[in-house]
Amino acid sequence: MSEDPVIVAGAGPTGMVAALGLRARGVPVEVYEAEPEDRERPGSRAIFVHGATLRTLDTIHPGLGYDLAEEGMIWPTRRTLFRGEEVFSRTYENDRSAGAGLPPFTSLPQVWTEDVLLDTLEEVGIDVTWDTPVERVETRADGVTVGTGDGETREASYVVGADGAGSTVRKEIGADFTGDQSANSFIIADVEEVSDDPRPPERVFHYDDPDLGGRNLLIVPFQGGWRVDVQCKPDDDPERIASDEVIAEYTARALGERYRDRVEWVSTYQFKQVNAEAYTGEHDRVLLAGEAAHLFAPFGARGMNSG
Ligand SMILES: Cc1cc2nc3c(=O)[nH]c(=O)nc-3n(C[C@H](O)[C@H](O)[C@H](O)COP(=O)(O)OP(=O)(O)OC[C@H]3O[C@@H](n4cnc5c(N)ncnc54)[C@H](O)[C@@H]3O)c2cc1C
Repeated sequence: MSEDPVIVAGAGPTGMVAALGLRARGVPVEVYEAEPEDRERPGSRAIFVHGATLRTLDTIHPGLGYDLAEEGMIWPTRRTLFRGEEVFSRTYENDRSAGAGLPPFTSLPQVWTEDVLLDTLEEVGIDVTWDTPVERVETRADGVTVGTGDGETREASYVVGADGAGSTVRKEIGADFTGDQSANSFIIADVEEVSDDPRPPERVFHYDDPDLGGRNLLIVPFQGGWRVDVQCKPDDDPERIASDEVIAEYTARALGERYRDRVEWVSTYQFKQVNAEAYTGEHDRVLLAGEAAHLFAPFGARGMNSG
């Protein structure tokens, strides 16, 4: 077995967990990240961490699943409405007492999840080399030569390409994305929590919401805030709905007037379901992981969780 480390490209959630998993198995690992250490990641992004993910993380690094569960919150009730009428509601047990085990999920902004992962990397002594993108990947039968943005060339036994949707590693191994994307757009807004709000923390799916002109609305609470997700109609102009005035108005209608001025971040997206043609390169020395390998539509919270 080669003495060279495994090189992980990308310190997003997938790259950090890959590094922790390798370290847990005693494999030497180095992580290279394109962005600087003091970067600011946009918005809440992946707010839902599945119980299965918590259990996997806790296997890789005992306590990590519980650390994340502690940072997040659980909304016990799911409600579904159609044109203003409730058609489904379910409330789950939410036993957070000591000894109850890991919860079925936890809900927190992705940047918090990443902070917890980064702290865990530090705890086990894995350094991230920031500001140093992986630019070139050449595989041989017995290893990989990796060129990085600092002009250095490094030898690796294997490479994990966890460098996100625009993956350089994927391009280097010549694996294209194939798949499709939805025709209509979605607007997603992060709304800061009002501390004395009596509104219960419920996830609400409202199909054909009359208050939003018949658009579909999804509201999801997470630690520190609410996600408001509006599905545009086919002939909507997404930029107009994402404008400050319109999203503030929709937020006020969805969550109440007190939330009108609490929108912190707005983004527009389309459902993409794409897959790399291959997850490994020639000689099976490179593995694509997370969004470098596949993109899912956000509903179902499979983006970060699958990584
Ligand atoms: C608006 C929005 C909402 C979302 N909501 C959810 C949700 O509710 N639930 C869910 O599960 N997912 C959600 N996602 C998806 C989730 O954010 C991603 O699936 C997740 O970040 C993927 O993690 P990753 O580590 O694979 O990639 P990334 O988080 O993209 O990390 C890749 C890392 O690689 C770095 N990098 C890039 N190029 C290089 C290079 N050449 N060399 C070295 N480093 C490089 C990047 O700087 C980055 O740090 C959402 C995404 C968006 C945009």
